[in-house]
Amino acid sequence: MNEEVPKTNSERQLNFLEEIIQEDLSQGKYKSIITRFPPEPNGYLHIGHAKSICLNFGLAQKFGGKTNLRFDDTNPIKEETEYVDSIKEDIHWLGFRWAGEFYASDYFEQLYFWAHDLIAKGLAYVDDQTQEEIRRGRGTITTPGTESPYRNRSIEENADLFTRMKNGEFPDGSRVLRAKIDMAHPNMLMRDPLMYRIIHTDHHRTGNTWCIYPMYDYAHGQCDSIENITHSICTLEFDVHRPLYDWFIEKLGIFPSHQYEFARLNITHTVMSKRKLLELLRVGLVKGWDDPRMPTICGLRRRGYTPSSIRLFAEKVGVAKRDNVIDLSLMEWCIREESNKKAPRFMAVLDPVKVVITNYSADGEEYMKAPLNPEDPNAGERNVPFSREIFIERNDFMEDPPKKFFRLRLGGEVRLKYGYIIRCDKVIKDEKDRITELHCSYDPASKPGTGEWRSVKGTIHWLSARHAVKSEIRLFDRLFTEPYMGSIPEDKDYKDYLNSESLSVVQGLIDRDAADTACKTVAGRDETRTRIQFERLGYFVPDYDTTPEKPVFNRICTLKDSFSKTMKS
Ligand code: ATP
Ligand code: MG
Repeated sequence: MNEEVPKTNSERQLNFLEEIIQEDLSQGKYKSIITRFPPEPNGYLHIGHAKSICLNFGLAQKFGGKTNLRFDDTNPIKEETEYVDSIKEDIHWLGFRWAGEFYASDYFEQLYFWAHDLIAKGLAYVDDQTQEEIRRGRGTITTPGTESPYRNRSIEENADLFTRMKNGEFPDGSRVLRAKIDMAHPNMLMRDPLMYRIIHTDHHRTGNTWCIYPMYDYAHGQCDSIENITHSICTLEFDVHRPLYDWFIEKLGIFPSHQYEFARLNITHTVMSKRKLLELLRVGLVKGWDDPRMPTICGLRRRGYTPSSIRLFAEKVGVAKRDNVIDLSLMEWCIREESNKKAPRFMAVLDPVKVVITNYSADGEEYMKAPLNPEDPNAGERNVPFSREIFIERNDFMEDPPKKFFRLRLGGEVRLKYGYIIRCDKVIKDEKDRITELHCSYDPASKPGTGEWRSVKGTIHWLSARHAVKSEIRLFDRLFTEPYMGSIPEDKDYKDYLNSESLSVVQGLIDRDAADTACKTVAGRDETRTRIQFERLGYFVPDYDTTPEKPVFNRICTLKDSFSKTMKS
């Protein structure tokens, strides 16, 4: 593209990767593009991976290309089939379909022959030094490295030793294959990097066929090349690896895949390394990979996030070239926006106190009309049962409140949402001075839709006692107290910052229709689960633990953009 030509608006809105791709396509460099998502199957995917998935699949969709899923399974020690399965499930759930499913281990044979190729070209050698000697020989950023005494072995000897490494003649750690580049190179990664190490461990796919395994840098670019990946997108910390990526491809003379880097996603109040997430699990600080507090995709799914809300989040985050930390509230905003439009409204009381409407008949019952969703005129109405005994939230009443308290007080009035205005006449307490019951009277003329509307300052949510259903409700808060977990002091452990109040489980009461909705839609991990709003409390989804006898709800997020503590007495 000519530098002089000013960009049109739509072109200007492209992110830098889209610009590169558009230019490559317009110059005819490729007919179509191929991207890949290359997870290592050593843990469950997290929201950072979701960002990468949306980016890789999204670019291919936008430019009419395709995306491969490639498991980067070159380290048999940490990799398991359980992770492979969960990764596929998560990508699928996010709404993406891969063109080909590949494994770096599919290419072990090819990579092995290429290694012989490099040996034959005098570009790789077998090194007998110990790990420690190799490390020391590398030098530092300011001092050049020193050459290994084995660096100038003959091509024949190298070929023979490498073959014998492969044949299992040597124990773990006794020898490695290194690329012969430059021990004084300013980029430390170019100082004769390792290509292969000996590991006598069964691999999740190749079993005991191999006892030598390629290093990431030796495998990644070539795997991309085998699949004709045009744009290989990875996170910024790999920019120093790019010269090596290019070096192998150039020396082997294979399809020139190119690597591009973007800023990895970081989010406040959480950690994202798989190692740390696994540790949280192992020491029992969370209940599983899918604990709703976890930043894993399966955790977010259980929590109630939808695929579209995560895709929206990825889009909002955008593609940056410099590392940054995204506020957790942006993620919540994405699911809140979507839920607001779709979620039917119900009422629930998390910390109930009984209210007796003394002037209402004991066996009387009537139904109030409420919109199922005020944001959606087509959603229709629901019936909210009312009777003599109701429950309200304990903290919606104060005997002797401060000035700005507009909820219920002794001698004061409040409107029951969609219902009557009630006045509190009497407070009943137990011997420990704890309120057990409130005696109120209702104003029969205040029923909405009848007569003249009388307004009072406060409106509170409530449930008819006879119609309420018991439910376990799980409220979540941030997993860590510190927003910037990436910059905690070095002498501190990230676990020191765990939020001890990240989970509170309450036994509350919910609208029976909400309970029906929950029990009806939950068959194990059924993803048709209905997300609902409990008025004033937030958006909720039935948890996997729901049974026909007992609804269990997770709070996805609160209604307002804050981590409200008010509902956690
Ligand atoms: P972790 O450090 O969590 O173990 P990883 O980078 O080792 O992550 P991989 O399975 O190797 O995990 O990553 C697969 C792909 O996802 C890579 O292309 C990687 O760059 C990308 N990725 C991983 N974490 C993030 C993140 N936080 N933001 C964006 N992309 C990410
Ligand atoms: Mg990795």
